[in-house]
Amino acid sequence: MTNRDYYEILGVDKKASEAEIKKAYRKMAMKYHPDRNKGDADAEKKFKEASEAYEVLKDPQKRSRYDQFGHAGVNGHGAGAGGVNFDDMGFEDIFSRFGDIFGSGFFGDDIFGGGGAGRARSRSRREAGQPGSDMKLRISLSLEEIAFGTDKKLKVKKYIKCDECTGTGAETDNDYETCSTCNGMGEVRQVSRTILGQMVNVQTCPKCHGDGRIIKNACKKCNGEGRVKGEETVKIHIPSGVSSGNYITLRGQGNAGKRGGSAGNLIVLIEEKEHEHFEREGNNIYYNLTLSIPDALLGTEVEVPTLKGKAKLRIEAGTQPGKMLRMRGKGIMGLNNSGQGDQYVRINVYMPDDLTDEQKKMIGSLKDEDNFSAKHAKDDGKGFFSKMKDVFG
Ligand SMILES: [Zn+2]
Ligand SMILES: [Zn+2]
Repeated sequence: MTNRDYYEILGVDKKASEAEIKKAYRKMAMKYHPDRNKGDADAEKKFKEASEAYEVLKDPQKRSRYDQFGHAGVNGHGAGAGGVNFDDMGFEDIFSRFGDIFGSGFFGDDIFGGGGAGRARSRSRREAGQPGSDMKLRISLSLEEIAFGTDKKLKVKKYIKCDECTGTGAETDNDYETCSTCNGMGEVRQVSRTILGQMVNVQTCPKCHGDGRIIKNACKKCNGEGRVKGEETVKIHIPSGVSSGNYITLRGQGNAGKRGGSAGNLIVLIEEKEHEHFEREGNNIYYNLTLSIPDALLGTEVEVPTLKGKAKLRIEAGTQPGKMLRMRGKGIMGLNNSGQGDQYVRINVYMPDDLTDEQKKMIGSLKDEDNFSAKHAKDDGKGFFSKMKDVFG
């Protein structure tokens, strides 16, 4: 398991596309491939590091967790990236994990200098269409959902790929002609002469929007846009311990692009719902428990709500108002199992203000009992004031 930055390991930008990441990994894997570096421990280490980085960055969900929370976001329970420990894996295991990359081309064209079919294809045209925009969505979660993590399904209204033309915007395949405005370049240059010399202004072609080609017969369903308004159900995993203001980026789950352009991201912003019983502070939760005078005096066993249903709590005889009882491990599981919080129960005692004459007599008879005197109070609040003084003094 490495603690180096995954983007740095692969030498890619944080905004790198999936294709760029795949390409970067492929390059690293070829360079440090065990067959070409026999017995070289450093190469082996680099190869495994790159594989670990790729394991995370190729997966939009893991990548967004990594972007937001760093290594802690993807390394659970001491295993490597996303639960995979590459340190213990043989090369064959690593290869079989990434079969898609190594499948055809790995020992083929690139290493042995064979044909350039793959390369020619990728160079032949810039990415088609226009990318879709990112979307933001708020999701409200209960404290219970936050405490243990949850899986959600979100219905998202957004542009989706037109199924009639599979996103191309054209009625039939190859129904295109070269854009006459830019001659297929996708951009137009305007050269103007000024006193200071020649100025060249390069702009995306207004007619084809950078595609370099024009659809002859537009798809009727999407009017040539390649996308239509629709609704999609998006699955999202919320890890335990998130807070309001955290967000999770689902790559490629935003608006579909125009005419085959890549989809935008869906950014899900977390909001914590107010809880009817609990207040949260970090991974701990607080609960106010009001006892009757007899219960506080004599002790009892009560049932208190927790994040996982009710639990019994022992109240010792003579429990003071303001006392804080700790229920260990009943709080929130921190982000990526970083520690379990506790539930604190703050004790309050209810004072009735409508005593009957008989009750007044009973209580009055206790007035002169020495052990009822307030002089025995261990904490008269001085601790609180001196702490305030420390803060403000
Ligand atoms: Zn269409
Ligand atoms: Zn054009």
